[in-house]
Amino acid sequence: MLKNVSLRFWITLSMLITLTPLALSAVGSYGLLNYGVIAPFHEVVKRKDSQIVPGQQLRILILESMAPVDEFVVGGNPDKQARYQALRARISALFMDLDGSITDDASASKALLTDARATWAAADGFANELFSMPLRTADARAVAAMERRFHDELLQASDELEILLDRMITAIDAEGARAALFLERSLWMAGIAGLVSLMCIVLGVGVIGRIMSTSVDRLVQGANHFAEGNRSHRIHVELPPELNRVAQEFNHMIGRIHEAEEVLSEMARRDELTGLANRRAFEATLPDMMGRAKRFEEQFTLLAIDIDHFKQVNDTHGHAAGDEVLRAVARTMMDTMRDGDRVFRVGGEEFAVLLPRTDGAPARLAAERIRQAVEMAPVSLKATEIAVTVSIGMASTLDFPEKSDLLEAADAALYRAKHEGRNRIIVNRPGSMGSKKSGVAA
Ligand code: GH3
Ligand code: MG
Ligand code: MG
Repeated sequence: MLKNVSLRFWITLSMLITLTPLALSAVGSYGLLNYGVIAPFHEVVKRKDSQIVPGQQLRILILESMAPVDEFVVGGNPDKQARYQALRARISALFMDLDGSITDDASASKALLTDARATWAAADGFANELFSMPLRTADARAVAAMERRFHDELLQASDELEILLDRMITAIDAEGARAALFLERSLWMAGIAGLVSLMCIVLGVGVIGRIMSTSVDRLVQGANHFAEGNRSHRIHVELPPELNRVAQEFNHMIGRIHEAEEVLSEMARRDELTGLANRRAFEATLPDMMGRAKRFEEQFTLLAIDIDHFKQVNDTHGHAAGDEVLRAVARTMMDTMRDGDRVFRVGGEEFAVLLPRTDGAPARLAAERIRQAVEMAPVSLKATEIAVTVSIGMASTLDFPEKSDLLEAADAALYRAKHEGRNRIIVNRPGSMGSKKSGVAA
């Protein structure tokens, strides 16, 4: 089933697989950054503004408020009281602000702030009592005691605020550390996602590349086999289906070319008029048989056959009648042949017959059968009947083991047959005749 899935699908799928970790990490990192980094950092900045800064101001103002009270006690200057009241108003406002900035009512910070505020209220009570005392007439020791208690409460309020500030700073630091941790995690996540994507890219490119290069290599190899003339090679490509179709088309094409070549080569070796094998086929077959004769001692006999006075047939009955005679003689010879014997038309009215594993008397007998068959089968035409005879020159590899000698010997025998009156067979044995060439010799 997977074999039918297209290359486009695999590329799309691998891109999706590759991009998914990146997309997930982008969404995840954005979420982590937003939830764990940006929001907490905002909170840190906000708390520094709304808690630490006013908290420190409050401590300073509380300590500052000591001076106008002390100076009032020493000099009785009413301006100092006004100065104290101004500081007092700012301190109250800052306590309100701080209280508003600590949103968790149940927190320890809230309790610390409430304590500091109460201590400040106590100090303020002593300050107001000092301002309302008749300083000139009052008991100096009572004033000093009151002043000391005022100081003590102020310092305690400052200390309590310091503890509160330390707590707040610690909480803010923890928030900052948490945000930093989230930042680190989201960076790790992005890094890992990038790495996974990279691995997917490498894997995807590797797998697709391997499939493609294996298949393309096979196509190229197949084309090379074809170029070298190998027609039996077939290309096997399974994936991707696109290249599988190319391979199938290629194989189909090679099959068709092979068939066409077979037909052409068959045509090239066949004589059109008689349907016999032609001179080209004769020249291809003869060396094969010579080789077998030498290697396996499979001797054979060559008959060089020529129609007698064929020119006269053409001259008397016309060229078409001559063609008909050629076809008829070819048929007669084919009918006379034994299995394994081969007949060729090697020239106009010249034929060659190869008689494998035959020589001597049996070969002579075969030649005689041909001669008689042709003689006994005059060719019937519409108006007339044409008597046909052939002359045959015979030579065997037993006597002439070389190709050129064999051809020459058969031709010389044929020449002699013509010379001696035609319609006869002459066997060439070594030294039995002179040399004269005619038809079969190339
Ligand atoms: P011989 O007995 O000495 O062989 O005499 P011949 O007339 O057979 O030999 P010659 O070589 O003088 O003439 C051969 C003739 O065969 C000449 C040529 O016109 C004819 N011929 C060759 N090929 C064809 C063919 O395909 N068709 C026809 N009709 N005639 C052909
Ligand atoms: Mg001839
Ligand atoms: Mg002839």
